[in-house]
Amino acid sequence: MVLPHEPEFQQAYNELVSALQDSTLFEEHPKYKKVIPVVSVPERLIQFRVAWENDKGEIEVNNGFRVQFNSALGPYKGGLRFHPSVNLSILKFLGFEQIFKNALTGLSMGGGKGGCDFNPKGRTDAEIRRFCVAFMRQLARYIGQDTDVPAGDIGVGGREIGFLFGAYKQMQNNWSGILTGKGLSWGGSLIRPEATGYGVVYYVEKMIEKATNGKETFKGKRVAISGSGNVAQYAALKVIELGGIVVSLSDSKGAIISKNGITPEQVEAIADAKIKFKSLEEIIGESVSAFSGSNSVEYKAGARPWVHAGAVDIALPSATQNEVSAEEAKALIAAGCKFIAEGSNMGSTAEAIDVFEESRSKNVWYAPGKAANCGGVAVSGLEMAQNSQRVSWTREEVDQKLKDIMYTCFDNCYETAKKYSKDTTELPSLLKGANIAGFLKVADAMFDQGDVF
Ligand code: GLU
Repeated sequence: MVLPHEPEFQQAYNELVSALQDSTLFEEHPKYKKVIPVVSVPERLIQFRVAWENDKGEIEVNNGFRVQFNSALGPYKGGLRFHPSVNLSILKFLGFEQIFKNALTGLSMGGGKGGCDFNPKGRTDAEIRRFCVAFMRQLARYIGQDTDVPAGDIGVGGREIGFLFGAYKQMQNNWSGILTGKGLSWGGSLIRPEATGYGVVYYVEKMIEKATNGKETFKGKRVAISGSGNVAQYAALKVIELGGIVVSLSDSKGAIISKNGITPEQVEAIADAKIKFKSLEEIIGESVSAFSGSNSVEYKAGARPWVHAGAVDIALPSATQNEVSAEEAKALIAAGCKFIAEGSNMGSTAEAIDVFEESRSKNVWYAPGKAANCGGVAVSGLEMAQNSQRVSWTREEVDQKLKDIMYTCFDNCYETAKKYSKDTTELPSLLKGANIAGFLKVADAMFDQGDVF
């Protein structure tokens, strides 16, 4: 059920349902229609008060949430977002996406999402710690390693996961894998920080290989990336490692455009400063040596990178939802962009997706976030597996498993699109393939478990 005041959830729901309807799935198997009204209502919605003490000794109050959307495939799994925009519509859209994304990883994870309308920007470490303790005081009773396993998302990284985990452990007298994204010395998985960004790039490797019959790779490709958080940073580093040229990054205040390509040193400078909530504008002003000479960048205040990035082969939206408009989609295509893959969740507006999908006949290929960015939650699933066995796998082992998951996810989207899609373009719709493949896995489990009959 979609309520009228839930625009983001409505958008995520429409994307799934129109992908299913615009395929042969319901003609071939009408029983799956019955799943839609069931799968689109969360199993449970939890909302709670988070009252905490700021550095001035004053009380501040925020709204905390956890959406336990679907547990057919495993414990609820999905991140926590701390951002002033957080509301039920946004968390329902994220939780809904997460169900099908987690299914596409091939691992046993249900879908959930949570967070708070708390704005961490500009807060001291002590305030963030007290906020996390207050948040966990409420959340602790609803989660568990076999029930619901949250992780990070926008505004929640390693520091916050540490404070949240410590608070849980103190309250419950129990050390278990109730969160993923933990520190490497206390139950975290190697490659988890890198996983979403690396995973997007692994997925796009397969897109390039398929579209060019193995003739091309990332080498020499100009890649526009938005965002400058965890996903964007590691996507950029992997692109650079594979010989691509990263022409942009951005934050909520503006974009940086680089003619010669962002360097790993620049990414590192950005990563260090972003933990302290510095803006890109401040960072390029302060890290003068990293951003000068042939490494200088152009700063575009108040802008997203898409129309400013110049010639582009690949675009990786990796900031937040609805960060590519139809006009920007058209500009990207006019600039030569052939591959678009979302590191963010629902990075493109519905209208932008229409532009990309209509251009598929001209070899423009779009991959939705629920497929392209599933690497983050996939390595969360691997972190859960390691915690259950009380072991830690090596970097190489986890990276190889991540690659396999992304490649298999791509093949699954590709084959499913070929099987069910009605259009006859050379490149099948990964939008449809991802939605249908994710949906089918969840729907079959729901039939088996009597959730739908
Ligand atoms: N927030 C991430 C996502 O959107 C990761 C979730 C997780 O690791 O549980 O998939």
